[in-house]
Amino acid sequence: MTLNVAVRTLCAFTARRGDLDRRFTPAPSAQEGMAGHALVTGRRGPDYQRELPLEGRHGELVVRGRADGFDPARRRLEEIKTHRGDLALMPDNQRALHWAQVKLYGALLCRERGHAELTLALVYLDIATQRETALEATFEAAELEAFFAEHCARFLAWARQEAAHRVARDAALEALGFPHAAFRPGQRELAEAAYKAAATGRALLLEAPTGIGKTLGTLFPALKALPRRELDRVFFLTAKTPGRRLALDALATLAGDRAETSALPLRVLELVARDKACEHPDKACHGEACPLARGFYDRLPAARAEAVARGRLDRAALREVALNHALCPYYLGQEMARWCDVVVGDYNYYFDAHAMLHALAREQEWRVAVLVDEAHNLVERGRGMYTAALDRSELLALKRHAPGALRRPMEALDRQWRALHAEDEQDAAYRVLDGPPTKWLGALQRLVQAIADHLAEASAAGTPMADPALLAFMLDALQLVRLSERFGAHSLFDCHERPGRRGTRLSRLCCRNVLPAAFLAERFAAAHATVLFSATLGPGAYYRDLLGLPADTPWQAVPSPFSAAQLTVRRSAHISTRYADRPASLTPIATLMAEQYRARPGNYLAFFSSHAYLEQVVERFREHHPEIPVWCQQRRMDEAARQTFLDRFVADGRGIGFAVLGGAFAEGVDLPGERLIGAFVATLGLPQVNPVTEQLRERLATLFGRGYDYAYLYPGVQKVVQAAGRVIRTPADRGVVHLIDDRFRRREVEQLLPAWWRLDPDGA
Ligand code: SF4
Repeated sequence: MTLNVAVRTLCAFTARRGDLDRRFTPAPSAQEGMAGHALVTGRRGPDYQRELPLEGRHGELVVRGRADGFDPARRRLEEIKTHRGDLALMPDNQRALHWAQVKLYGALLCRERGHAELTLALVYLDIATQRETALEATFEAAELEAFFAEHCARFLAWARQEAAHRVARDAALEALGFPHAAFRPGQRELAEAAYKAAATGRALLLEAPTGIGKTLGTLFPALKALPRRELDRVFFLTAKTPGRRLALDALATLAGDRAETSALPLRVLELVARDKACEHPDKACHGEACPLARGFYDRLPAARAEAVARGRLDRAALREVALNHALCPYYLGQEMARWCDVVVGDYNYYFDAHAMLHALAREQEWRVAVLVDEAHNLVERGRGMYTAALDRSELLALKRHAPGALRRPMEALDRQWRALHAEDEQDAAYRVLDGPPTKWLGALQRLVQAIADHLAEASAAGTPMADPALLAFMLDALQLVRLSERFGAHSLFDCHERPGRRGTRLSRLCCRNVLPAAFLAERFAAAHATVLFSATLGPGAYYRDLLGLPADTPWQAVPSPFSAAQLTVRRSAHISTRYADRPASLTPIATLMAEQYRARPGNYLAFFSSHAYLEQVVERFREHHPEIPVWCQQRRMDEAARQTFLDRFVADGRGIGFAVLGGAFAEGVDLPGERLIGAFVATLGLPQVNPVTEQLRERLATLFGRGYDYAYLYPGVQKVVQAAGRVIRTPADRGVVHLIDDRFRRREVEQLLPAWWRLDPDGA
């Protein structure tokens, strides 16, 4: 048996010691790193050998990697690292890790070319100054060979265990049966489609109604494909926290888990955001501040061993393992992502600019099946991941208390900001610029560098925590700089201006992504297969275009298990919910709701386009129908308040919950049976017409010729269908949906409503 490992993985496993240190140092981006490597190797002579592939064996372990460069004349092997700021501040354990890496390459090169000794160099390139600092030492081949053998031996036991796990996992998955006696109606079709996508290595858009068991129906085939297609990992990605729980429950069902024991050798990890997993939110992530970071890498091997023995690492289990070893649960989770078969986490772990799972998959060359839950959310989430903004008021606030070294670069940026305002003779509240303004961006880049240097110095001087406002500004600025560097037709660069105090002009500059496809396409390309699924995932072309899926990505709709007889759909043609018509709509809407309630008392949800509209209707409703109980969604409800709202929907309850379309109660809420018997949707859900949405419409019209549909109609109706989808959750449910607006009778809207609904031809 041959066991393979990359030099980087071997080092990360055997050569890390000491504290975890995530002090803020603005590391170069991947692009900067690549450009830095190219710069350094470009400075070398014609005989310089770049990206040298090296390979060597130790027992059954084969170690592979690519050394950055070799200068045969000087017999010097180089490992190139890019950095920002003062090199002296680099923690010792990180430097030791770099040395370990170059020594392993050195051992492989000595073996391959028969060198008796070799000069090894760590070449650090400062991204800002483009200056190189080389640390150099000469080693005998025997010394390097001993180093190589020692590290391989330390890894070998783990590698054998991993290989055995893989064999056991694949055998168990091959034999895995569906955990229920039968599939739910539609679920088999869903599972077959998902399996085909995983087996043939392609992307698939899958629209499947609520209630057929999409989570289990996609996880089961993905797991079956692992052994059959030699896949390495499954990533189950969710838009919201409840989706993670559903996935973990489905995995437990599949594995036949009982309490602590599991019949299936499958490692499952739940990734939780840092602010939720952190045990010391008042501390910084390094050994001098946080006890769970101190000696992290020294205690990691024991924790890792316990974690893989557990197998199921949901949030609670991971925390327990971490605290057993006095380790940070969040960073233990990051480590375990390397060693788990199924990772369940938010979209951003795979899709955002610094996505950890995507980086790992690339580094490890994994073949990955990606499952995207409630995938209709990915358009907006994707836009958010590739959008960044800065407000002049934040700069002015920082400037007031700026440390000496930052005053000049802050003033320089502010000067450019004022110049931008002066250019705009119209004093427009909103305008779109041709692109990131060059001088302003240059000043911002220089300020980012100055803040980075300042923070690095402050941290070296032992300042316990960086100024949070400065740090937040720095992170936003860095994101804006990086996105501006990749500016293109996929984004707008816009400016919202407003008057400040005493004649000051304030503005918010935003690099706003409108087409996430430009960034997400490479993520789909990197996955072996991707299944995107949701109850509202049409039309297929819209998602293919906006997400950057291959043009031939099939779109498939799984027929609903529900019958038209279960749901009465009424469209109120006599009411308009357009902004100008709202005052006139209040009484008719209240009357319609009261009539429905009296005809069939029970629990209802009513959705409106905004809190303001909701408040107007509820006021009128209370006035005219005080005997009917109502309760309302409030702005900024916390989790407990949201639960209280939902708790009112009991099986024998009575009343109407007022909520906002697209809000917390319009998606992912499961109120089966008598807990919810009807919904009113008093809006077409169209995004607000404002300058930004209008720009979006124009850009999408230019790119796809479908401006109104892509910017307004499809996202709007999708929200309506999601909200209405709260009513019928099981084949036994019966209910009613009132679509309140005359536009619901338009053909282009009707076509977007679920095929299984029987629309009332006469309206209500
Ligand atoms: S416990 Fe919190 S502060 Fe400590 S290392 Fe973890 S995330 Fe950082």
